[in-house]
Amino acid sequence: MASAVDTFMAGVIAKNPEQKEFHQAVREVVESLIPVLDKRPEYRKAKILERIVEPERVIMFRVPWIDDRGEVQVNRGMRVEFNSAIGPYKGGLRFHPSVNLGIIKFLGFEQIFKNALTTMPIGGGKGGSDFDPKGKSDMEVMRFCQSFMTELFRHIGADTDVPAGDIGVGGREIGFMFGQYKRLTRKFEGVLTGKGLNWGGSLIRPEATGYGQVYFAEEMLKTRGESLKGKTCVVSGSGNVAQFATEKVLQLGGKVVSFSDSSGFIVDEEGIDERKLAFVMDLKNVRRGRIKEYADKYPKATYQATESGAKCNPLWQVKCDVALPAATQNEINVDDANNLVKNGCYCVSEGANMPSTPDAVNVFIESKILYGPGKAANAGGVAVSGLEMSQNSMRLGWSREEVDGKLQNIMKSIHKACVDTAEAYGTQGNYVNGANIAGFTKTADAMLDQGVV
Ligand code: NDP
Repeated sequence: MASAVDTFMAGVIAKNPEQKEFHQAVREVVESLIPVLDKRPEYRKAKILERIVEPERVIMFRVPWIDDRGEVQVNRGMRVEFNSAIGPYKGGLRFHPSVNLGIIKFLGFEQIFKNALTTMPIGGGKGGSDFDPKGKSDMEVMRFCQSFMTELFRHIGADTDVPAGDIGVGGREIGFMFGQYKRLTRKFEGVLTGKGLNWGGSLIRPEATGYGQVYFAEEMLKTRGESLKGKTCVVSGSGNVAQFATEKVLQLGGKVVSFSDSSGFIVDEEGIDERKLAFVMDLKNVRRGRIKEYADKYPKATYQATESGAKCNPLWQVKCDVALPAATQNEINVDDANNLVKNGCYCVSEGANMPSTPDAVNVFIESKILYGPGKAANAGGVAVSGLEMSQNSMRLGWSREEVDGKLQNIMKSIHKACVDTAEAYGTQGNYVNGANIAGFTKTADAMLDQGVV
């Protein structure tokens, strides 16, 4: 007989064919929730699960723009306003050629629970485009962002839906989009987060996801009486999250030995120190080059190109104590997870969203290593976005120390919510169950209070 999860998933798959990342994200949450539904029959009666997997609204639109040669280009834009039970929709925009509705829906769905965990009043949403900023001039990126916002502006607002950055969307893109929003609406308001410091941004927002990911790792290690000091860490990606995760590991006395991008990865057994990190930040954020150049600059480091179709990623064979994935979804498969555990890794804190496949997650859970899933471990980014919204509403700015202190407290409280909830449901140490159940019950209770909407 089919299990309750299989029956529920059959409905979700039939209604949303082809959206495999969305199916994956929903299944993981639903698997955690069966004991909750048994304990709280009112959720079943109000069809909370059926409602929570259906976005409140999906917006899809054409984004035409003109490239530097004068040719017309057309991309697809989208925004999924998933759930507003506990606050305005909140979640990033991703610009990457792989973007499709299934990916944006998986990210928006995860965002509901992550945002609930942050303790801030923010609902879940996500958006983006299949536009690829790589290799485009600043003016092409600007024309694209302006065209994207020319449709998106009518759907968002400081109290309605507040997008931020994600893959391919950093300070430059947020600036271009904010400028166009202001021109169209004549409103200078906190409609986007990740803004520049001198026009409404928050200190620590660029750092927040990576710092939060490392604070979460530190909290997990503390449960075993340990810390990051002296630990060797493997980091994937070399963008916003990877860079600031590395900065925080260094500040806490740990060692980072790798970076990657979609072309390959580097390993530097000597460790990536502040000076080398500054090189990577300039390479990626200013010169917009490839990580391979790290090995050209520092010849003791090795570079290995990504092999498409390979069974596993050799990056995850690098010996480490702690793994900090910070690139993209499904970057760790079951073989990679086995390699990590076999080589002594005993703490995985996810900066990327859903970087581990379901089988990889099972390896981590069954091996009883410390495993912090993205929706808990990377929630620091959206949490500081929430703090940016608070500062914008007050028209005040907090100091670096104040925001960082709040971020640390939020990561501690997310960690505690995961630990306590996992224990209350008889699965001690299972951060996946802890995060899913704690995020779900907060949202579900708000949905119950607000009636059938
Ligand atoms: P960036 O665009 O700054 O960096 C992304 C990095 O990941 C780049 O090094 C990129 O390499 C690499 N990457 C992207 N796609 C792939 C792919 N398909 N295969 C291999 N490598 C890839 O993005 P962020 O650092 O902001 O985001 C990284 C992850 O963190 C994402 O999963 C995102 O959803 C998640 N996240 C980000 C938050 C934020 O505040 N920015 C908040 C919470 C989660 P390349 O340059 O070659 O594409």
